[in-house]
Amino acid sequence: MKGCLYIVATPIGNLADLSQRALEVLRSVALVAAEDTRHSARLLQAYGITTPMLALHEHNEAQRGALLCERIESGERIALISDAGTPLISDPGYTLVREAHRRALAVVPVPGACAAVAALSAAGLPSDRFCFEGFLPAKSPARRQRLGELAAETRTLIFYEAPHRIEECLADLVAVWGEARPATLARELTKTFETIIQDSLGGLLQRVRTDPDQRKGEFVLVVQGGAERPVTSEEAAMDTLRVLLDYLPLKEAASAAARLTDLRKNRLYELGLQLQNRAEA
Ligand code: SAM
Repeated sequence: MKGCLYIVATPIGNLADLSQRALEVLRSVALVAAEDTRHSARLLQAYGITTPMLALHEHNEAQRGALLCERIESGERIALISDAGTPLISDPGYTLVREAHRRALAVVPVPGACAAVAALSAAGLPSDRFCFEGFLPAKSPARRQRLGELAAETRTLIFYEAPHRIEECLADLVAVWGEARPATLARELTKTFETIIQDSLGGLLQRVRTDPDQRKGEFVLVVQGGAERPVTSEEAAMDTLRVLLDYLPLKEAASAAARLTDLRKNRLYELGLQLQNRAEA
C-alpha cells in the first residue's frame, strides 16, 4: 500500500465545520499528528474517532517529521492537524511537508476552515488580491517598523492578532497608516459571539477602546491596501522633464524625473533627448 501525508483542516470554533472527508481521513489513517494532542483529543472524541495521536509542534517538528516520513515510506497513511483551522497557516507543519516533498512522498490537502480566508470572505474589502501577514511583531517598535515596510502595499492585508494586543496593534496601525483606511475586525468567527465590524482604522480603534467585549476572543484584522500610485503617462513625464531641463543637464534631469514619475531613467533620458532635438529643430 502507498503511504501519504494528509494535511487536514479542522474547525476554528464551530465543530460542524469539520468536513465529511476530513472525518473519513481522520478515522482511517494510522496516526494523527497534532500540534497539541490534549487539545485535539477533544475534537476527535466529539466525533468518536479513536485513531492514535502523536504530538508534532515547532520544538520537535524536525525530528518527529523525519520519523513520520519513514512511516509514510513504509506504507502508512498519516494525517496532520493543528489546534484549529488549516495546518501551516500560522501553525506548525512546514518542516514536515517540506521533508515529505524532499522524499517524494504524496502530500494530500483536505481543505476546510481557515480564519484568514473566512474573515476575508466576509470583510467587504477588495478580495481579488490580498496578502496574509499572519501575526505582526509583539512589541510596538518592531510592529511599527513592519507596518512602515508594508505602507505601500496596495493589496488587502490580513493579520492575526491576540486579544491582549488588539488595542495597541490598532493604535500602531493608526499611527503608521493613518485613521482613514477601511478595515474589518472579525472576532470569534463561527462561534457564539462572532462579530464582524467594518469601519475605518480610527473607528475600529475607538470601538475596541470603548467596548471591553471587543477585546475578548480571537481576532482577524483585514485592512484595505494603500492607494495605487497613478501611472505616469509619457506625456506627463515629458512635461516634468521640460521643466527640469530648464535647470539641469539631460542626465541629471532624467534621474530627477525617475524619482518623480514611475518611468525608468533610460526611457526618461530618451524622452529628454527627443525634447532637446525638437527644441533645436
Ligand atoms: N491555522 C489557523 C487558521 O487556519 O486560521 C490559525 C492558527 S493561529 C495560531 C491562531 C490565530 O488565528 C488566532 O490568534 C486568531 O488571530 C486567528 N483565529 C483562529 N480562529 C479564529 C476565530 N474563530 N475567529 C477569529 N480569529 C481566529
